[in-house]
Amino acid sequence: MDMQALLALQEEDGRIRDLQRELRVLLPARKSEAQARLKTAREDVEKALQANLAAQREYERFHRDYTRQRDIMSRAERNAAMSGDARVASVAMSQHAAASEAAARAEAAAAEASAHLTPEERRLDQARAFEAEEERAVQDLLDTIRERKGQVEEELVRVQARREELAKAVPPVQLKYYERLRLTRWPCAVEYHRAEGVCSGCNLVQPHSVTQAVLHADKTPNNPTMVTCPACGRILL
Ligand SMILES: [Zn+2]
Repeated sequence: MDMQALLALQEEDGRIRDLQRELRVLLPARKSEAQARLKTAREDVEKALQANLAAQREYERFHRDYTRQRDIMSRAERNAAMSGDARVASVAMSQHAAASEAAARAEAAAAEASAHLTPEERRLDQARAFEAEEERAVQDLLDTIRERKGQVEEELVRVQARREELAKAVPPVQLKYYERLRLTRWPCAVEYHRAEGVCSGCNLVQPHSVTQAVLHADKTPNNPTMVTCPACGRILL
């Protein structure tokens, strides 16, 4: 049996399947991957920003506490100086001492918080720089993907037109069977391992009658009748 025209059609259909897969699966996957990269970079900036704000608030809290304690100290000093009463002056002085200790603690804590602020700021700068880099890289990737998509779409139109021509050369009985089979099986025409009696599409051992039919078809190349696999329905070559 002559399968040349059918095989040429199957080959072209293989190309169409590859292009369609690229269009529907591979390119969208590359696009999502690129967008995920950008999302990660943006999330890192957001995290660094929040950490930076938290460090800043921490510093401001200690700094406010320090200012407040300094105010208490000044007030106590004034009260002690203005008061003629020794007992009131003594209370004011002990208030001053307590506020002075608290101010020293707040000052130390503010200094520590301030030291923590610098690395957080640096981390934020780095995250922003990385985000800018990723934005450029991802934009390039998206441009490339868009360009490839256009090429694949054009190629598909060309290949599909060629496919229509190739289909015309296939004997109608073969074409009808092939067109129906390709909706569920791929590839449709597969090699039959004569010695083992195995269909290479489903890898199942076939009855001896199938091997006989294939061997008979080998001897009658002009007969358009096909031998098909009883298990998977594929055309056996
Ligand atoms: Zn099979």
